Amino acid sequence: MTDAPRLEIRNIQRSFGGRAVVDDVSLTVQPGQVTCLLGPSGCGKSTTLRIIAGIEKQDAGSIWADGQMICDGTSRVPPEGRGIGLMFQDFALFPHLSVAGNVAYGLTGSARKNRARVAELLDRVGMSAHIDRYPHELSGGEQQRVALARALAPRPRIMLMDEPFSGLDDRLRDDIRDETLDVLKAEGTAVLLVTHEPGEAMRMADEIALMRDGKIVQKGAPYNIYNTPVDKEAAAFFSDIN
Ligand code: ADP
Ligand code: MG
Repeated sequence: MTDAPRLEIRNIQRSFGGRAVVDDVSLTVQPGQVTCLLGPSGCGKSTTLRIIAGIEKQDAGSIWADGQMICDGTSRVPPEGRGIGLMFQDFALFPHLSVAGNVAYGLTGSARKNRARVAELLDRVGMSAHIDRYPHELSGGEQQRVALARALAPRPRIMLMDEPFSGLDDRLRDDIRDETLDVLKAEGTAVLLVTHEPGEAMRMADEIALMRDGKIVQKGAPYNIYNTPVDKEAAAFFSDIN
């Protein structure tokens, strides 16, 4: 049981209006690793992530965490019981709460423990000096760092990230990607990162699952996928890496 993947989805299927949007998708994420679900816009990435989070239902297939089934056709653990943290591009901070208030928001421990956890995370993301500020007093990159700290605060065993960097300008994005990776590795969280940018997947992933028209067409280490694309379309997709 101990070497079960942190997250495993098996044969997930979802159709809208008779069209398969997620078509027999299986993938795994190991503890402390980043798996990138990579593919062009509209291929079904976000739907897959929403199904794992439990905010969308699959038509078929099952979801497992640490060898335990959390969702299949007959039983399902509710979203809040799955130990999953979410970070979406439009997952804004609470404007009426300070940085400390935002990061502490999902914590249920004692006030003293929560303060320690908030301090630890703000230190990790380099935001300790801004603990009493409010979101409107922060830059986009700073807000992103606080959002990361907030998502990690309850120690989720799995982090689902949907294009979390796409709202940032180019110059900032590379720095934030690297910092985010450092924090995630330090916390040991298993990450499923959705992106449509091959460069981002190359930079951040331990494992890439390449998705097209609802299907996973190739899986492997970034280097292998880049050097041995499964077909011409995959090669073309990787050719405009920046
Ligand atoms: P991606 O995140 O890769 O851009 P999505 O998972 O958001 O792709 O969407 C995949 C396809 O499913 C798109 O064609 C989208 O329009 C469609 N879709 C997503 N959600 C719904 C829904 N609730 N109802 C109907 N179609 C949907
Ligand atoms: Mg999407």
